[in-house]
Amino acid sequence: MNLFRRRLWGDRVVLIIVALATAAVVYVYQTRGGEVRLYILTGWSLMVAWLIGFSELRIGRKQLRRGRDAMFLGLAAFVGEERIDPDGERRRGWTGAAPGALAFEPHGIRWVPKRLDEGPEELSFAWSDVYTWRLVGVIPFVWRASGYLLISNYGGRENVFHIHGIRSWRHAVREAAIVGPTLVARGHSEAEPQSQPAALAWVPPPPPEPEPVPVEQPQEKEKAPAFEPVIGLECHVELATHSKMFCGCPTTFGGAPNTQVCAVCTGQPGTLPVPNRRAIEETLRIALALGSTVAPRSIFHRKNYFYPDMPKNYQVSQYDIPMASGGELAFDVEGDRRSTRIHRVHLEEDTGKTLHAGEGGRIGAAEHASIDYNRAGIPLVEIVSEADLRTPEEARAYLTEMRTLLLSLGVSNVRLEEGSLRCDANVSLRPKGATEFGVKTEIKNMNSLRSVQRAIEFEIERQTRLLERGEEILQETRHFDEESGQTIGGRSKEYSADYRYFPDPDLVPLEPSPSLLSEIRGTLPELPSRRRARFVSEFGLAPADARALVVSPGVADAFQQAVLAYGSSPQLVARWYVGELAQLANERGVEAHEVGVSPERVAELQRLVDDGKISLSMAKGDVLRRVVETGRSPGEVVAQSGLSQISDTGELGGIVEEVLEANPEIVQQVRGGKTGAINALVGDVMKRTKGQANAQVVRELLTHRLGS
Ligand code: ADP
Ligand code: MG
Ligand code: ZN
Repeated sequence: MNLFRRRLWGDRVVLIIVALATAAVVYVYQTRGGEVRLYILTGWSLMVAWLIGFSELRIGRKQLRRGRDAMFLGLAAFVGEERIDPDGERRRGWTGAAPGALAFEPHGIRWVPKRLDEGPEELSFAWSDVYTWRLVGVIPFVWRASGYLLISNYGGRENVFHIHGIRSWRHAVREAAIVGPTLVARGHSEAEPQSQPAALAWVPPPPPEPEPVPVEQPQEKEKAPAFEPVIGLECHVELATHSKMFCGCPTTFGGAPNTQVCAVCTGQPGTLPVPNRRAIEETLRIALALGSTVAPRSIFHRKNYFYPDMPKNYQVSQYDIPMASGGELAFDVEGDRRSTRIHRVHLEEDTGKTLHAGEGGRIGAAEHASIDYNRAGIPLVEIVSEADLRTPEEARAYLTEMRTLLLSLGVSNVRLEEGSLRCDANVSLRPKGATEFGVKTEIKNMNSLRSVQRAIEFEIERQTRLLERGEEILQETRHFDEESGQTIGGRSKEYSADYRYFPDPDLVPLEPSPSLLSEIRGTLPELPSRRRARFVSEFGLAPADARALVVSPGVADAFQQAVLAYGSSPQLVARWYVGELAQLANERGVEAHEVGVSPERVAELQRLVDDGKISLSMAKGDVLRRVVETGRSPGEVVAQSGLSQISDTGELGGIVEEVLEANPEIVQQVRGGKTGAINALVGDVMKRTKGQANAQVVRELLTHRLGS
């Protein structure tokens, strides 16, 4: 593993320079008759320690994002995770020392426990989910440091990683080197590596660079960012129609192989296709939502190829005149607004699915292949972007926005894992400032948003390496391998001439009437970008909250209903959806409106807090949990479990007296002017009431009693 090597070399050079400088100072001092004082030496050693500690901990996000600095910070101990919710409440996740490593990878940050049974699970944050992160409170002391890393991520929550006692970096590197392979082994021995959620799946870092870049070559470094990535995405969207594009077969996912087929979609001689009206209308819906221009007349072509996934040996698609072209999709990258032009939107039919059995499921190593034609003939819309995207993060954000848009249009269930949304990424590099595009490769086979980003990151890195060595990029189709995080060369790309396109003589041209278009335009829902803007302007939400809510139209709808039910303060309602509910949903692999808490109940929970019946932390903790578990309303849960908050001054007064008696030293401190110490007393009351006391009332009682 090529961990830190470059940095260590850099630091050694710094160390040597500082040591020489120290020697020189000491020498000059002595030759002038001075005495070497201990404090001078101490000062210099501290300086050296600081330099080393600082240079190694200064991990600029930009540097990392370039995808070249995959590295591990081996940590001796990992003390715990704390979340700071948007309302400012701190909540402890788990605590306890656990050996492991924080891995800084091109895709994001991962906490990797050394062994599974040792404490916390693996956690990961994609760079695009990490809004800000910084190392704070780092106290470098000769090869040691401690501090914490703040990661404020998706949904406005902050995750704080406490890092303690980083041991010598040599040790750390050794430890990380142990952690890495352990995980690789774990990933491989698992029965169903596929079932691991993609975000947590172990991804080996990309292969180390051929040789560590020596520090003596600063020009090398400057050359690296001289290339600009150019990215264009092709999205294939399976429409959620009931029947296929040209026959009446059902389109449901997951049926037994070859049970959803008929004479038409298996290409029997003498059959004729009948276009699916709904598929055409939904393609128009997509086109109109993207602001594309609908062609007054477009036709279907046959795209011929010799490959068994279409029994007809051709696929019906559109060629020179797509159903729509132009338009744009606007999206946000970490709060910055970007937009990408749309090249074309066309309708075609999906192909069957080929399963390659044997070695790793790859074509080359397969023993045999099985074909399932259930998918063959399902209407498929292809949305091609212009090559306007420049970074992997942008590509991911574009795709996320596309997914949200399609969800809100209700035209597809857009599941990347099920293949109802598939994306090919076209990636090329060009010298900065150049206007012409370079040779591109097309990456396929990515089944999550994160994979798309990872694949592009890898591909940019791969092409950069080739170009830096003066080699050429081969125009080809490459496959993304989830496990290794690499793209693997496939067939060299066909050109359109290879497909022998010709108009399908069995299908009539499409000429959507102006009245049909205006009818469809009239049924378009509020589009996500509008909705986000409205949540900010009308409800006063923070842009990040609006973004998080609108990602899923279902969540945004539920939120709106909850706002209606609650009647005021949409921000308070939003906190539930981006906070606790999002977390519950995350744990269950569903979305925030699907955890079993209706919008009315969310409003009720917040009202119980407002009325002082329960505290916010009770609402978010026990009460919410029981609502989910029992299916009862929050009011019932509170009434039945005696969870209500104690605000009664009489009852609390007694407990306050007990606490004052039990903590004479603290009482002394508070009386002596250390007012902050009162928190400890409040804490004790909370402990004695199992969190049910109204902290505000307790504080008032204490302040009153102590006369401060
Ligand atoms: P193909 O016929 O190979 O599929 P297209 O010209 O239809 O190629 O383009 C497909 C996608 O690739 C589009 O999204 C386009 O913007 C993008 N693209 C085209 N050329 C490049 C390039 N040099 N680098 C990156 N993306 C590109
Ligand atoms: Mg293509
Ligand atoms: Zn059929």
